[in-house]
Amino acid sequence: MLTLNEINDAYREIKDVVHRTPMLTSRSLSKKCANHIYLKSEHVQVAGAFKIRGATNKVKAAAKEGATHVITASSGNHGQAVAYIAGKLGLKATIVVPENVVTSKAAAIHDYGADIIHCGTTSTERLKKAKELTTDEEPVFIPPYDDPLVMAGQGTVGLEILEQIPDVDAVYVPIGGGGLISGIATAIKASNPEIKVIGVEPERGNDTYLSKQRGDITAIEHADTIADGLRASQPGDLTFPVIQKDVDDIVLVSDDAIQAALIFVLERMKQLIEPSAAVTVAAAMANKADMREKNICCVISGGNMALDKLAEMVTEDA
Ligand SMILES: *Cc1c(COP(=O)(O)O)cnc(C)c1O
Repeated sequence: MLTLNEINDAYREIKDVVHRTPMLTSRSLSKKCANHIYLKSEHVQVAGAFKIRGATNKVKAAAKEGATHVITASSGNHGQAVAYIAGKLGLKATIVVPENVVTSKAAAIHDYGADIIHCGTTSTERLKKAKELTTDEEPVFIPPYDDPLVMAGQGTVGLEILEQIPDVDAVYVPIGGGGLISGIATAIKASNPEIKVIGVEPERGNDTYLSKQRGDITAIEHADTIADGLRASQPGDLTFPVIQKDVDDIVLVSDDAIQAALIFVLERMKQLIEPSAAVTVAAAMANKADMREKNICCVISGGNMALDKLAEMVTEDA
């Protein structure tokens, strides 16, 4: 099981690469949510999402062991992060993305100098492809979430939340494969078990919700939510036990609520966040934690939003 020590070690390892991201507040958002809302702003993180934290911890460790070529499977943000850090450290990178990858994400991966391979539409298909291309030697596989070094890297978000809001009462965290929430929950519960850690999934991507309910890893057929970073078919073998132990609750939000939250943050706070990040704001707006006047942190996990998709959303909303 992941430990606070591993997260502290990860923080030392990645500090020179990642930003300590701001904690934004908005009176209008807090009023709407009947709580004091803080946005942990990983949408302004290096490469546009928190994924650079875990990727940096893992790729640096691989490089220390002599790796010169890394490979991964990702719907976009993890691929961007691996491409970025590999380029920075002078390693070659290959990224397996879905056929329907968000165009801006594929363009960014390409710009960071990595090779792109398209494969299938599910995380299962592309993970299989990347693993097929992985050998005992090179390239070295960099998992998107189910890896102790990746989970520890993502957990550094939790360390910063504790420093930035010492009296935080609850934290909403989006769940894809569960790397982010298992890291954050470990950091937070080790510091103060009273702080609530609440996972958020889209209704149309509720694999971890179902898994937690049944007490066993449960896969879903097809996650077709607009939150493209949360379309993992099932939680990981390493992330799920941490989620069972340290996550207090998992709540679901609709795609309409995700869209409304994204537009609210854009209009009122002038921040462009992606749907996978907006789930936590949607949960706060629906007061899924059932709290009043508490300090609640919404983890804004990324801001890589294709502008053509944004234009469609804004037009629908108008
Ligand atoms: C990857 C990702 C998530 C989900 O993280 P997991 O570690 O897979 O649970 C959430 N939001 C964004 C923006 C992401 O890129």
